[in-house]
Amino acid sequence: MDLAGHHINIRFHPYFDHFLKRHRTREFSYPIIRRASLCDIVESLGVPHTEIGAIRSQTHPLGFPFIPQRSMVIDIDPIPPPFDICQKTLLRPEPFSTLRFIVDENVAKLASLLRILGIDADYFSGISDRELSRIAHDQKRVVLSKDTQLFKRKAIVFGRYIRSVKPLDQLKEVLDFFAFDHDFSPFSRCLDCNAPLHSIPKERIIHRLEPKTKLYFNEFRHCETCDKIVWKGSHHDHMIASLKSVGIEL
Ligand SMILES: [Zn+2]
Repeated sequence: MDLAGHHINIRFHPYFDHFLKRHRTREFSYPIIRRASLCDIVESLGVPHTEIGAIRSQTHPLGFPFIPQRSMVIDIDPIPPPFDICQKTLLRPEPFSTLRFIVDENVAKLASLLRILGIDADYFSGISDRELSRIAHDQKRVVLSKDTQLFKRKAIVFGRYIRSVKPLDQLKEVLDFFAFDHDFSPFSRCLDCNAPLHSIPKERIIHRLEPKTKLYFNEFRHCETCDKIVWKGSHHDHMIASLKSVGIEL
């Protein structure tokens, strides 16, 4: 097919303004000069595929691999919350079975905040984008990041661009956007390494406790991965107060 001189019209929902800011418009007349998929076209304009909830031509839903034809008018919509990553959709035909995350370095504090709530959130300091996206793909983890380029990697199926600057606001953003299918289990996960914590009898670790901890606390949890011991001390109360300040009640 001779594609010379053909255009499609692409219209983005206002949600995408942040990604389109260098263009100062949300409507594009896009020249079809090669056989490009919708995914490639939309990402070339600055919007990562992970942020897209639906692609439509009039009322017809379209998938990422679709090759648009001349004169089509295509609308791009965001993902409406709550986003259930376990639901099969046209854009994501292979959903995950569990909601768990991998947190990028640019939103690093999100990892321990999610872990406070018992949410599985992996984090690796100093890994490359390639390695992070490989782990996300292999372990079926949702990526949380502020890096638009990272989200254009095809290995990443599910991700969320985090807009807030403060870590507690970022946590709120995640909790408001994703559909969590069960109640949180606060303080059930190691804040340092993400492994689940297990109850441990006081007598087994009493030799490792400071005198005051030994005196005032009787319930302890242990991380078998990094050997950390956890109890409900002043740090615990401080975390609960911080979460409450942004409307998260434990
Ligand atoms: Zn640990």
